[in-house]
Amino acid sequence: MARMYYDADAQLELLKDKTIAVIGYGSQGHAHALNLRDSGLKVVVGLYAGSRSAERARADGLTVHPVAEAAKIADWIMILLPDEVQRVVYEQEIAPNLQTGNVLSFAHGFNVHFGQIVPPDNVDVVMIAPKGPGHLVRRTYDQGEGVPCLFAVYQNASGQARDLAMAYAKGIGGTRAGILETTFREETETDLFGEQVVLCGGLSALIKAGFETLVSAGYQPELAYFECLHEVKLIVDLIVEGGLAKMRDSISNTAEYGDLTRGPRIITDDTRAEMRKILHEIQTGQFAREFVLENMAGKPGFTAMRRREAEHPIEQVGQELRSMFSWLKRT
Ligand code: NDP
Ligand code: MG
Ligand code: MG
Repeated sequence: MARMYYDADAQLELLKDKTIAVIGYGSQGHAHALNLRDSGLKVVVGLYAGSRSAERARADGLTVHPVAEAAKIADWIMILLPDEVQRVVYEQEIAPNLQTGNVLSFAHGFNVHFGQIVPPDNVDVVMIAPKGPGHLVRRTYDQGEGVPCLFAVYQNASGQARDLAMAYAKGIGGTRAGILETTFREETETDLFGEQVVLCGGLSALIKAGFETLVSAGYQPELAYFECLHEVKLIVDLIVEGGLAKMRDSISNTAEYGDLTRGPRIITDDTRAEMRKILHEIQTGQFAREFVLENMAGKPGFTAMRRREAEHPIEQVGQELRSMFSWLKRT
């Protein structure tokens, strides 16, 4: 079994004299900056002039600099910008300010693995990738816990890159939950596959298809919403707590029998063949090329698809229903 590393395996002291610039203050950025600061480390935030999140960073008690300035004063530069803007910001504001011995780091391997960012030889290049959204990285840290992380070394100029990456993972609370070593390639490919096939793409397509099937058969959209969307969380919570077995223990025998006999008819050999095709598109860089070009063209397809999805009836029914769930607002 792959080895997990915990608090005792990492030395925070390696970072105590370093200034860490967190570039970006969004989902991951705010969590990394605040957790590192609360771990006693010296943190500055780098953002563009007029950035909306700069106000939040200042309100949270952090020092905010323009990206170039933050990169210049820092020993460690963590890039937590949206993947599609990283290349330009790196080339214009970060690369000119990198010095020998600096550490350049990422929370996703996309730009380095696909050659959008090519770091110079004289810096360490590492990744610390929390396996959870930023608000959870922050919330669990506040509760004395952490979100598991992957870490990887792409370039080891100092000879210390691996220990440094582990120290950073400790600083954000990752080693409280356990961290796992990987490579930029493995993290990038599995992360893209997971979000496309299972977590985001697969799940939203499954939810929508189930909802559409019930509604076109004449059932009330509100019921279809409950069955195909709302209950997903209840089931997933059980799966995360105790695997498929715990979920199957908790559901009725009727549901369990339906699960075992009907589930495999939904994920067919065709579906598996499509999964392999999607994996191949990731491995060959075809997906990366498409995403990079889409962004360079000003996101025409992305924008149109976002708009169409927002108009889907499941979103309208959901909005009305959720506004009546007082208990949802409290959580
Ligand atoms: P967000 O979209 O949440 O972060 C956006 C931040 O970047 C904001 O502070 C935004 O400022 C700032 N920003 C946007 N454009 C620029 C620019 N041109 N120059 C300077 N600052 C800019 O990103 P995420 O946190 O989602 O993602 C960051 C990285 O973490 C990515 O590599 C992603 O793959 C990775 N990751 C993300 C996870 C997640 O849960 N979201 C999970 C694991 C990894 P403003 O508010 O002013 O627009
Ligand atoms: Mg991802
Ligand atoms: Mg039921």
